[in-house]
Amino acid sequence: MSRICLSLESLEGVERQLESVAADLVEVRVDMLSRGAREAIRPESGSRGRRVPSILVIRCTEDGGRWGADGETEAEREELFQGLLASGHWDWVELEYHRQLPQVIEAAGKAGTRIIFSINDSSGMSLNQPVRELAVLMRNIHAGGAIPKLALQCESSRQLLTLARLALALEDMPEKLLTGRGEYGAASGILAEKFGSLWVYAALNREPYPWHLNDLNDLYRFREIGESTPVYAVTGNPIGHSRSPKLHNGWLRTANIPGCYIPIRSDDVGALLETCDILGITGLSVTVPHKETVLRYCDVLEPLVRRIGAANTLIRGGEGWRAHNTDAGGFMGALLEALEVSGTDALKGRKVLLIGAGGAAKAAVYSLAEAGCRLVILNRTPKKAEALAKAVGGEYGRLGPESEFLCRGVEIAVQTTSVGMAPNLSGDPLPWWNPIGCRLLFDMIYNPAETVLMSRASAAGVKAVNGAGMLVQQAALQFEMFTGFPPG
Ligand code: NAP
Repeated sequence: MSRICLSLESLEGVERQLESVAADLVEVRVDMLSRGAREAIRPESGSRGRRVPSILVIRCTEDGGRWGADGETEAEREELFQGLLASGHWDWVELEYHRQLPQVIEAAGKAGTRIIFSINDSSGMSLNQPVRELAVLMRNIHAGGAIPKLALQCESSRQLLTLARLALALEDMPEKLLTGRGEYGAASGILAEKFGSLWVYAALNREPYPWHLNDLNDLYRFREIGESTPVYAVTGNPIGHSRSPKLHNGWLRTANIPGCYIPIRSDDVGALLETCDILGITGLSVTVPHKETVLRYCDVLEPLVRRIGAANTLIRGGEGWRAHNTDAGGFMGALLEALEVSGTDALKGRKVLLIGAGGAAKAAVYSLAEAGCRLVILNRTPKKAEALAKAVGGEYGRLGPESEFLCRGVEIAVQTTSVGMAPNLSGDPLPWWNPIGCRLLFDMIYNPAETVLMSRASAAGVKAVNGAGMLVQQAALQFEMFTGFPPG
């Protein structure tokens, strides 16, 4: 079972920290400590006498550490390594593979300390090498009796795929560490067990890892992830802001269903899906900007997906990846709730303004057309509004004030663009539109909770709701598809 390694860059309140967090081992980054603290360092033990297994690390500036930044020499580093190892209290010492130190290796041997040979690559260049070369390198290190460690900055989905392929190639090697840093690499940490890594590194303050140590324990239930644990993911670019991991993991926990739901940033859907296949990810939520491009990579498209031309849910089955769309159902459920009506009959004949013509708009347009609404679609790119309007027999126009005449008599407005979404909070997709007379403004944005357009509508006495309800409803539909159970 993979463990959690707390990376310590300061010794302030260490004992208290170790008691308050559930880490299995610590990495003491001696290079990050002040000169005084370096001299006094001892492997840490918890206040109740539990000795925490410890890794000794003194990393040079060239390898991403701080040793040498204040003029410290290599000879001093070797001396400090030997002095600290002589205490006999370190379980592991990490050395750079390309900078082997024979005297330190000898001191480690005498002290009974295992050696980790690491390749720390903050540029991620190593991930552009063929997998077989990386695998040979790892096997050579392992054959010499050391634990091989690759810690690389992942800057793309292709690089995460290389790491996943490497994990597959080294499946039979029990002792290794594969760590992809950054948002693209985060899956390698949360799923350390699936990557076959001995442990995952975490810090008390998020940086440099994309999670907080407590997230691993509380949000992702890291310790419960085993070989057969189902894994689901949400993918988009960016993905850090997504609320889906909190929702889905919360539901999994409440229903006591084994499983873990993780965010994976992706810039290449093909590479991402291959990574999912290697890691055994069977359910995928898809968000901006991949909802349309993802269709190209799917083996089966549900009829609703074909109609809308966008998918937000992928399920991996025997026939390959099957594309579904729960945005449509989630949108309609939340809209009816906002209107305080129980069925779509209440929508028949109503004039609805759609702002935007992207993937989310399409999901809304087809549901509204099916419910018998009269539709006006305005979009920055009028061609997209035209195509959508023609498909459902609606009217269309640009986002500018020349479309004012189309908006007369609108009863419901549905805002589906990303204008006004965090971090660009001041955006208003239709600044000239006067919402007076409209019954409801439904803005699909949920961050911020109130957009500029929503606050203008509220000020005009129009009920305004954000996309939080839709988010929960579309996620609930996904959850049922992933697990077979509705959220409890
Ligand atoms: P998308 O397919 O990329 O479509 C984006 C839409 O926004 C297009 O209509 C685009 O116009 C328009 N747009 C983008 N930047 C613009 C700008 N600067 N000025 C004017 N229009 C602009 O994305 P999507 O999947 O439809 O998502 C759109 C929004 O809906 C996002 O804010 C997303 O978070 C939200 N959403 C919410 C939920 C939920 O559950 N609440 C679900 C899905 C989506 P062009 O066609 O001219 O590019």
